[in-house]
Amino acid sequence: MNIVVCIKQVPGTTQVKINPDTGTLVRDSVEAVVNPFDEFAVEEALRIRERIGGTVKVITMGPPQAETALRSVVAMGADEAHLVSDRAIAGSDTWATSYTLAKAIRTLGDTSLIICGKQAIDGDTAQVGPGIAEMLDLPFVAWVRKVEEIDESKIRVERMMEDGYDVVDTPLPALITVVKEINEPRMASLKGKMRAKKAKINTITAADLDAEEHKIGLKGSPTQVLRSFVPERKSGGEKITGELPELVDKIKTTILDLGVIK
Ligand SMILES: Cc1cc2nc3c(=O)[nH]c(=O)nc-3n(C[C@H](O)[C@H](O)[C@H](O)COP(=O)(O)OP(=O)(O)OC[C@H]3O[C@@H](n4cnc5c(N)ncnc54)[C@H](O)[C@@H]3O)c2cc1C
Repeated sequence: MNIVVCIKQVPGTTQVKINPDTGTLVRDSVEAVVNPFDEFAVEEALRIRERIGGTVKVITMGPPQAETALRSVVAMGADEAHLVSDRAIAGSDTWATSYTLAKAIRTLGDTSLIICGKQAIDGDTAQVGPGIAEMLDLPFVAWVRKVEEIDESKIRVERMMEDGYDVVDTPLPALITVVKEINEPRMASLKGKMRAKKAKINTITAADLDAEEHKIGLKGSPTQVLRSFVPERKSGGEKITGELPELVDKIKTTILDLGVIK
């Protein structure tokens, strides 16, 4: 079975600062790591390979330095590493990222299962997994906390819900996103680290993608960031009290005064 795991390189902190002038993330002096949820995705792929055999391919879209992230999951045991990197794809929003990754995954041959993390700890949108599934017209299950059964043609998973879990059967190929409850990612062995150092990283450029030019990169991104800022911290607050009808009116007036809703 061919399994593709999407991993993203992210700053190793959830306290990323934003440059107020440019609106971009201040990445200097912040260590780059593999998105933690993606380590659970890699671990699950390795466990499936151990259960039923197959190949685990890891893929990331990012600048050349994202190669480091790929090597660290090759050290865990992934078989192949693919880096989608090109100036033409810089500035992609989640739509363009999903489109580009879907096109890149197509270049990797037949794939039975794609695994993504629940979300990335920097962008935090949780859109890319479902986006790839939609672009590839695949069934999709989010928030998977357990792979109960899997064979070449189908998978049964537990999907985490707020008040319990669903058991979901889906035919393969399919895409799942995983939560941290699914497993405990393994540490890379010394042998794995040595292998990772020498591993070949396959670079995929825009020219390899068979992508429509107007759908990639900044130009292909339907959303635009107009301004990024850290919300001002406000202290104090006002306690609104009273009987129900009066309370509703007071809350309504307060919200309107804040200018959040017009
Ligand atoms: C409105 C908007 C505009 C943006 N504009 C820009 C911009 O101009 N320039 C810019 O650099 N970024 C921009 N971004 C950020 C960029 O879209 C995200 O970095 C990227 O799309 C991933 O989204 P995310 O971090 O929310 O991932 P999520 O959707 O939270 O990630 C879920 C999972 O998808 C997979 N995944 C996500 N990203 C990747 C990846 N790159 N490679 C492999 N797997 C991945 C991982 O498995 C991850 O766990 C923008 C984002 C938004 C929402």
